[in-house]
Order: sequence, then structure tokens, then C-alpha cells
Amino acid sequence: MAIKKTTKDALTATELKEIKKHLLTLKEEAAARLKDKKDMDMPEAEVGDDIDNATRSLDKEILFELSGNAHNTIEQIEAALRKMDKGIYGTCEICRQPIPKKRIKALPFARYCINCQHSTEHSHG
Ligand SMILES: [Zn+2]
Repeated sequence: MAIKKTTKDALTATELKEIKKHLLTLKEEAAARLKDKKDMDMPEAEVGDDIDNATRSLDKEILFELSGNAHNTIEQIEAALRKMDKGIYGTCEICRQPIPKKRIKALPFARYCINCQHSTEHSHG
């Protein structure tokens, strides 16, 4: 299986726009989650249809993050939005390398590339 190496992995304006929209949605969801912080029990992920089919599977993964750490998530989303305004969105805050699109799409508020993410997790215990 040949892996195609893309030299430029920069996000297009359209992609950025979509991601921004997605981030804002995620932020609202996280904020709502913080608000009605019942028992955080929810054994099964929501079955509601308030989420677009298109983003549903993606959101499901992120829901994991949200339910665990909604407040932290909001901060990360806000940081991502600020980075967008500055035009530096999509680069790792540690090594300054572009974060792969695949990762950005899975985790739009990712601050680090996978390598750096792993090393921060290590250093924080
Ligand atoms: Zn990095």
C-alpha cells in the first residue's frame, strides 16, 4: 500500500470555514453540556437528531472528550478559533509543523501534532 506524501498539507479557505463552523457547534455543545451537568452518567451516547448526519460519526468520537472535560474543551476550541483569526490555525504549537488534515478533521481543536501530543501527555503524567 503506497502512502501518498503530500508536501503541502495546508487547509484551504473553504476547509477552514467548515472547521470553524464545526468548532462553533462543538463549543455550543460543550457549553450546553456544562450547563446541564446532571450526573454525566449517560451510559449511551445521545441518540438525538440534533446533530447532522454528516458530522455524526465525528462528533461521536469527540463526544468522548466533551463529556469528560467540557470546560477544557471549550478553552481549546476558543484557542483554536483565536488561532484561526491569527492565521496560524493548523500548526502544532510545539514543533510548528502543520498538523495533518486527517487529525484536524478528527479533532478540530487539536493544538499539537500527534508526536507532540504524545510527549505532552507523557510529561504531564
Ligand atoms: Zn508537533
